[in-house]
Amino acid sequence: MNAPLTADTGAFRVHGFPVLGDELGVGGVPLSRLAARVGRTPFYAYDRGLLSERVAALRAHLPAAVHLSYAVKANPMPAVVQHLARLVDGCDVASAGELATVLDTGMDPGRVSFAGPGKKSDELAQAVAAGVTINVESPAELEEIARHGDRLGITPRVAVRVNPDFELRGSGMRMGGGAKQFGVDAEAVPALLARIGALDLTFVGFHCYWGSQALRPALIREAQEKSVELILRLTDDAPGAPEMVNLGGGFGIPYHDKDTPLPLAEVGEGMAGAVERLTTALPDARPGIELGRYLVGEAGVYVCRVVDRKVSRGQVFLVTDGGLHHHLAATGNFGQVLRRNYPVAIGTRMTGNGIETQSVVGCLCTPLDLLADRVELPRADVGDLVVIFQSGAYGATASPAGFLGHGGPAEVLV
Ligand SMILES: *Cc1c(COP(=O)(O)O)cnc(C)c1O
Repeated sequence: MNAPLTADTGAFRVHGFPVLGDELGVGGVPLSRLAARVGRTPFYAYDRGLLSERVAALRAHLPAAVHLSYAVKANPMPAVVQHLARLVDGCDVASAGELATVLDTGMDPGRVSFAGPGKKSDELAQAVAAGVTINVESPAELEEIARHGDRLGITPRVAVRVNPDFELRGSGMRMGGGAKQFGVDAEAVPALLARIGALDLTFVGFHCYWGSQALRPALIREAQEKSVELILRLTDDAPGAPEMVNLGGGFGIPYHDKDTPLPLAEVGEGMAGAVERLTTALPDARPGIELGRYLVGEAGVYVCRVVDRKVSRGQVFLVTDGGLHHHLAATGNFGQVLRRNYPVAIGTRMTGNGIETQSVVGCLCTPLDLLADRVELPRADVGDLVVIFQSGAYGATASPAGFLGHGGPAEVLV
């Protein structure tokens, strides 16, 4: 069974979710009852208690000075963003759509940053008008921001997103170092800083984003130390003292049985030195990190229903009403090099006997639509609910919902 059972306050929990009788509980509700409330399958369900617990764990282990931002692209469902907005110190958005979602929560625009390549002129105008910090990714973007500021009579707030001159091995996804479409190459930053000083702009600080899905504390520590070193070097050319230094994020979550969860206490201890060095050199700079999947990924499940059970040449296929059009990442097609199963369970047969090897597939006409490949699960039948864990990030909005015309999944925060 790929879902380890751990005793927790007397109740069994599977990947953080309690087992209630024969069913998985989400938001305290047995899964079949939740499915009836939602009114249809497939759906994503996010557990607000788990979201809150995750933020609390970060607060308990990271240095107190660290400003915690939520990278909205991981899960932009408005109810999720609303819930997190009250718990975190800021939000990072990557589009005008995400910006609107965050501003609708009532979050102070001073706590919002806007990063990402290819920001369109009208998006920049909205960001300037709203007064959020724009993480500048190119000289052309900087000029456009300044033009909007002149036109609107507002002094835009800008930070420089640096493409670091170091590269890290071992993070799941590298987003800095070498030639990249993200950020401004470290060696080109001094010229950009000079230009910021010459224009009517407020310089806010630096953003150094080096990668994602890191599960090794030593790697995170090294990245944060190198980021501080780089930023202290770049500060010599800054038009003012930075008020914010974003050291990236990159905290990973265990998607597969060979992944080990990040030891948060060790990450916090590792971060202390970098934060200390930064705040000693730049007492007015607030150190920050921005996290997406680490905040939301483990708090969400994807639920689909078995619509057929087929045996093909001895192999059992549970054919469901879900699939890669809702959950591309679980099928291994969201940029993963190797396809490995996400943790999966039959949410309506948690204590079920009769374990057998079954594959879970979706309803799309492509062999890529494989949600779980030959896993040991209680024998499931038509009507049972399949649960895919670790699905709170890069799910509904990171999947090609238009493919084959089945429509998108429902989403609930419980
Ligand atoms: C995608 C992204 C994040 C979030 O990444 P996670 O791996 O979900 O934590 C944070 N910051 C930036 C700039 C990003 O592009």
